[in-house]
Amino acid sequence: MILDSHLDTPGKLLKEHLNPGIDNPGAQVDFPKMKAGGVEGGFFALYTPPEMEPDCATRYALEMLSATYDACEDNADYAVLCFGPDEVENNRKKGLISVFMGMENASPIQESLSLLRTFYRLGVSYVTLTHNGDNAVADSAAEGKRWGGLSPFGREVVAQMNALGMMVDLSHASDKTFWDCLEVSKAPIIATHSSCRALCGHRRNLTDEMLKALGEKDGYVGINFYPYFLSDSFDPAKPSTFPGVKEIVDHIDHAVRLAGIDHVGIGSDFDGIEVTPEGLEDISKIGEIQAEMRRRGYSETDILKVSGQNLLDVWFRIVNRSELSR
Ligand SMILES: [Zn+2]
Repeated sequence: MILDSHLDTPGKLLKEHLNPGIDNPGAQVDFPKMKAGGVEGGFFALYTPPEMEPDCATRYALEMLSATYDACEDNADYAVLCFGPDEVENNRKKGLISVFMGMENASPIQESLSLLRTFYRLGVSYVTLTHNGDNAVADSAAEGKRWGGLSPFGREVVAQMNALGMMVDLSHASDKTFWDCLEVSKAPIIATHSSCRALCGHRRNLTDEMLKALGEKDGYVGINFYPYFLSDSFDPAKPSTFPGVKEIVDHIDHAVRLAGIDHVGIGSDFDGIEVTPEGLEDISKIGEIQAEMRRRGYSETDILKVSGQNLLDVWFRIVNRSELSR
């Protein structure tokens, strides 16, 4: 089983009118490619750019949501929208891809818990609090100047998400936001598409202390495939510097050492990255990760955990701690 915790596909569906039911040349994600790669589910993230005004962001997120609903309804023989972790097993049995929904950048909820609940009811299961800009909820790794971490409203957002069983995603968050959420959240927290700062110094990768804390709080990190987050020596002008499967599994190894084998997964960021690692040009190639883990001596049980079981398990843990049912 392979489950990917972060795909930027909804924006593509909306803007490029892509039919995900066919193998689109050059596309990083579509249902045939997911099938070919043995990917049985993935989070489709509703990504809104930080520079978009909140009213526009709300509308744009709803349009992406609608495009995702359409994509699944038009390809009902391939995929189905999935509102909770308990639906995955049944979809697998039917041979259907589970499409989960996340929101990347909390800007569409504006300053309204009622909008947050509305998106939850429509199927949004995680919120990546920020993208590359501070917003009403929290500070981003790219700026980090507005609140000094989580805003007062952001604290209410985290509490509401805990109560609903929505997952708090700290990829892109500033270090201070990360630590604030770790302290405030009653449920485990996740980083859906982040790599390790000890191996690549990008500010939005997680430090060893963060990885350790994430594991101790029973959370999850999905390793990101973006070459800029994998290797400090990456240069798009020099093909010899492209990281590949080996570097991705180096990040997995490192995260497993710090966070523990039950807390690491895959968050490729496909459809959100304009350059891809060597040998992993699209989601159909994702099995290369498992093959490399096997070569490195990981047991089949541990490969299964990292490939998707850990993501499913943390979602169950978060839902089980919530106060409400959808
Ligand atoms: Zn992202």
